[in-house]
Amino acid sequence: MLFEASRAKAVDKLNHFIENNLLEYSKLRNFDFGPSNRSNISCLSPYITHGALNELEVIDKSLKKFSFVKNEKFIQEVLWRVYWKGWLELRPNVWSDYLIELKKLRNEFKNNQNYIDAIEGKTNLECFNQWVNELKENNYLHNHTRMWFASIWIFTLELPWQLGAEFFMKHLYDGDAASNTLGWRWVAGVQTQGKHYLASEWNINKFTNNRFKNIKLNENATPIFSNRTYPINKKDFINSEILENQTLLIFENNMAFEFSDFKEHKFKKIFLISNDSNRSIELSEKVLKFKANLLKDQKIRLDEESINCEIININDLKKITEEIYALYPTVGENLDFIEINQLKNIKFLYRKLDQFSWQYCNKGFFNFKNYIPKIITKFN
Ligand SMILES: Cc1cc2nc3c(=O)[nH]c(=O)nc-3n(C[C@H](O)[C@H](O)[C@H](O)COP(=O)(O)OP(=O)(O)OC[C@H]3O[C@@H](n4cnc5c(N)ncnc54)[C@H](O)[C@@H]3O)c2cc1C
Repeated sequence: MLFEASRAKAVDKLNHFIENNLLEYSKLRNFDFGPSNRSNISCLSPYITHGALNELEVIDKSLKKFSFVKNEKFIQEVLWRVYWKGWLELRPNVWSDYLIELKKLRNEFKNNQNYIDAIEGKTNLECFNQWVNELKENNYLHNHTRMWFASIWIFTLELPWQLGAEFFMKHLYDGDAASNTLGWRWVAGVQTQGKHYLASEWNINKFTNNRFKNIKLNENATPIFSNRTYPINKKDFINSEILENQTLLIFENNMAFEFSDFKEHKFKKIFLISNDSNRSIELSEKVLKFKANLLKDQKIRLDEESINCEIININDLKKITEEIYALYPTVGENLDFIEINQLKNIKFLYRKLDQFSWQYCNKGFFNFKNYIPKIITKFN
């Protein structure tokens, strides 16, 4: 399976999916037919994660093809990402605590044979081993498979979810602090406390068309216990007034200036920020290359518009002392860099979609879902 690091290719993929596969999405989306047959899902997440495709652009195109009712499931899925991000923005300590726990566990498990067998795909579970190899080779896994994978990791192999989430982040092209950390927490049963996701043999058989043998799982495990609660951190996501002729930063996880709410604004210079070494979670070479190529692709598009831009390393931000603007990179590694280095000269610009939607992220997704028609009406 190939993900080409180009917005043009992403748009082609989106158009093709909408024309040919969207209609059957809600019926077929839970099936993992294998890496050579992915037409039942969009495979757009590597692009949406980096902002190379914008959620509203995706929803807008889908609504031009089918009504909201026919499209509801797909739109809900696209907005899960916005919801997870908003949920984490309101509780950023979930991310910082995760990184602290991860550091400790990494040390504890570095010589643990079960852990080593798991990340090398050498367990006695054929399906799990195949998914490990698929993840490393294709840098993508189907959503249902991510759920089974995480569940097996936690409840059958009895490994800490934090290390599994790190393994995903390292190899996924769509690796995202919010969707990944909260996805793993949800499977473990600490996101919705006491409710975990247990993979079962019949479910894997059904949704993989019986592609695997010997699926002996712990199907009776109890949820991971955590008594940590995270009160909501009240924060206003208000944009600073943008002055003319200023500098703008675009981070690798929030690209596509031409689709941003600030595209009409005249910036004297845009810096595209790569971040390959200042990370708490080391990324694989392939993931770093994918990000670098998406940044280059964004630069080409800005050059074509004669917008003055340059790709720089995140470390170079420490040398800039003037006041600058940045498309808000959201809770995760890029924001951590800004905070750790106390780069107070950076003023954030929030997306209108996030500003509006994040107010509904204080509770669970079922509550958020009720506001989706309102969100769609506002932006469509
Ligand atoms: C343990 C676990 C870890 C995950 N880690 C990530 C991650 O690091 N990055 C990431 O982007 N997604 C993550 N997901 C969510 C989901 O698996 C992927 O977004 C989805 O598989 C992407 O494939 P697709 O583009 O074909 O999705 P489609 O089914 O075609 O959905 C369309 C779009 O909706 C969004 N979406 C769909 N499902 C979800 C979801 N559950 N959460 C958030 N957004 C969703 C994605 O942007 C996706 O491109 C994780 C899920 C689990 C269970």
